[in-house]
Amino acid sequence: MNKQSKSRGRRGIEWTDYTWNPIGGCKHGCRWQMPDGTIAECYAETVAERVATSAYPHGFEHHYWRPDVLQEPLQLRTPARIFLDSMSDLMGNWVPADQIEQVLGVCREARWHSFQLLTKNAPRLLKFSFPSNVWIGVSAPPSMMMGKQLTRELQERMVKKQLEVLRQIRVPVRWMSIEPLSFDIAPLLVGSPLEWAVIGAATNGSTTYQPQREWVENVLRVLDAQNTPVFFKGNLDWPHSRWREDAPTGEQKLRLDILQPAQSRL
Ligand code: SF4
Repeated sequence: MNKQSKSRGRRGIEWTDYTWNPIGGCKHGCRWQMPDGTIAECYAETVAERVATSAYPHGFEHHYWRPDVLQEPLQLRTPARIFLDSMSDLMGNWVPADQIEQVLGVCREARWHSFQLLTKNAPRLLKFSFPSNVWIGVSAPPSMMMGKQLTRELQERMVKKQLEVLRQIRVPVRWMSIEPLSFDIAPLLVGSPLEWAVIGAATNGSTTYQPQREWVENVLRVLDAQNTPVFFKGNLDWPHSRWREDAPTGEQKLRLDILQPAQSRL
């Protein structure tokens, strides 16, 4: 597993402690149109095809199964937040169900950790049963997926579907990554079942594009009204009101649930 820097900066994943990638590669082909018209590709794709090429010899669109790293969370005894799949989408339709079950089996066994799953293929979530220490998250839609342009209407439909799926899932933390916040998503979040949300700016290489201030304010207004904690990514430039790095509402209860049986055995 790779340890993540917790410092607030313009790169990295500040909302987790480790990344764990028992699978790699992704066929979703996400692309984001930046405000200046440039197109950004998925950061994982850039890493796989330009930096970690030896681990991705068949390119990023190939599916890699890495059973050699499957046991890693069990070897880490200190409870941690672990981002499950920073280099793929575990719920991708191409990922064999038995591999997903093996990954979830390790999560179930490593009950002292919190595993942060994030997907752009929410409907497949309904085919699995998740241990309570797996946080189930959905990502806001990109501008393009699998070579197809996502119009605003399609993006909104996708968000509605994602939230509908989350409503049917019973885990202590259901969350959404809104990175980048690229349109006024707030109206779609009214009444959402989220226990946590992450908001970030758009990036393309070293260039960062800030969301409109009112988009952030609207999201905060909606989520604050329903007591959904918010975490700001370090790439967000936000001098306007309190900086947010809130933990999910379900996390503390989850920790108590996990610790309780262990304590009662003492
Ligand atoms: S789903 Fe995630 S890993 Fe796959 S292309 Fe999109 S952003 Fe990259």
